[in-house]
Amino acid sequence: MKTNKNTIYDIAIIGAGVSGCMIAREMSMFDLNICVLDKAYDVSSGASKANSAIVHAGYDPIPGTLKSKLNARGAKLMKTAVKELEVEYKVLPSLVLAYDEEQMNTVLALKERADDNGVSVKTISREEVLTIEPMLNPDVVGALYADSAIVCPYGLTIAAAENAAKNGVEFKLGYEVSRIETHESLFIINDDIKTKYIINAAGVNSAEIASLIGDLSFSITPRRGEYMIYDKQNLCVNSVLFTVPTKLGKGVLITPSVSGNMLVGPNAQVVQSECDIQTTSEGQNFVFENAKRIIPSLTKRGIIREFAGIRATPSGDDFIIRFSEISSKFLHVAGIESPGLASSPAVAEYVLELLKNSGLRTIPKKSSTRYRKQIRKISEATAEEAAEMIAENPLYSHVICRCETISEAEIVEAIHRPIGARSVDAVKFRTRAGMGRCQGGFCSPKVAEILSRELNIPLSEVTQFGGNSKILCKKQ
Ligand SMILES: Cc1cc2nc3c(=O)[nH]c(=O)nc-3n(C[C@H](O)[C@H](O)[C@H](O)COP(=O)(O)OP(=O)(O)OC[C@H]3O[C@@H](n4cnc5c(N)ncnc54)[C@H](O)[C@@H]3O)c2cc1C
Repeated sequence: MKTNKNTIYDIAIIGAGVSGCMIAREMSMFDLNICVLDKAYDVSSGASKANSAIVHAGYDPIPGTLKSKLNARGAKLMKTAVKELEVEYKVLPSLVLAYDEEQMNTVLALKERADDNGVSVKTISREEVLTIEPMLNPDVVGALYADSAIVCPYGLTIAAAENAAKNGVEFKLGYEVSRIETHESLFIINDDIKTKYIINAAGVNSAEIASLIGDLSFSITPRRGEYMIYDKQNLCVNSVLFTVPTKLGKGVLITPSVSGNMLVGPNAQVVQSECDIQTTSEGQNFVFENAKRIIPSLTKRGIIREFAGIRATPSGDDFIIRFSEISSKFLHVAGIESPGLASSPAVAEYVLELLKNSGLRTIPKKSSTRYRKQIRKISEATAEEAAEMIAENPLYSHVICRCETISEAEIVEAIHRPIGARSVDAVKFRTRAGMGRCQGGFCSPKVAEILSRELNIPLSEVTQFGGNSKILCKKQ
């Protein structure tokens, strides 16, 4: 749909994380004029790109909360969503490990909670645990076993956004919402966007966004979680390994990632803002020491990257998904901390119900689709398929990222898709170029050259992640 400055949107979604993009996708099935606004220069730039990536089974949330309902439902819906969107997803066991009798009592309490939540889990013996995970600390006394899964969190968010964009949703990136005027039947955002409904999915900033219409009903505390990623050859676990949860959260875990790396973390530290994403030596040591309690032979060799994500911890203990008391057309999707990724398909479904019940007309759009194709990877093709791909497009034979075997054709496609990559990081999150052992040391300059060529911009204008993050300095 073509829009101009007089366009009145039906819905403006603030925040292009997994919540905002999954909601945009769900709403794009209807004949509605929708925009998604994000201050970052790419989708999935907040908590949705930096988390543990676990599709929690749903045993952990307090029974009766919205979190418990949406987690269990989200984990079920995720199986369909990842097929429709062709997102990397892997089913694997998750174990909550107990190292003494007291911790085993916590495991038994978790089992009762799972029963209340209607989620199937079982307790298993020390011997069973060690059969599944031979590298584990032999002091383990038992565990809670659940069928769980892992997903690519930014892959899911990008795929949902691409699907929504294909269905006509407009994405305005690099657009910071700083003002909202409330009129009788519409809102005006930053003096230029008119919309009938607003969905506030601004993560750590959702309380600030609420305050723009005078809604001070909740607050959000940013809590940082730090991680370390190991090279693929260092992967030594088959399941998601949790220690027993404490008041501070689920604790440090060790898990494979969908791409075959090993992820270790997070800690939990209150910080000032969502910008505090630098890792610290204290945080990394804490994570490493706790992980060593799970796998005593773990060393720091093989760590290829450290990173941190910021949780949006709400003042209450639950997700805040409700209309504002100030305006019946302003819907909060706030305080979406873990398991917000696992819950995201159910969050979108729940938001649709709330909007329908509020009187929004939802007429199915004939031309919409729930399907989206992933970028074809030369590394996953058989010899025959690879030959066909190269015959069709010779750029598949030109490998740019040697660590991950990513071809030039994949990078070019990432740039020209809906919500195409506009920076080196955006290419990385769509193709994995730069995510391997050398962390982009070899391929980043080549990716920058391809961006420059395909976007027809000087190399000096190519950025790491948009805005002023130019990667080359101009000669004085
Ligand atoms: C350390 C950690 C571990 C986690 N592990 C898991 C897990 O294993 N499983 C699981 O299910 N969940 C997990 N989560 C939770 C999950 O990551 C979040 O629930 C989910 O990503 C929240 O998505 P969101 O879209 O609500 O927020 P975000 O992804 O943070 O998106 C909010 C967006 O709003 C934008 N924004 C903010 N202010 C403005 C503004 N003024 N104008 C325009 N845009 C704005 C931001 O740029 C951002 O892109 C974890 C989270 C963390 C931090």
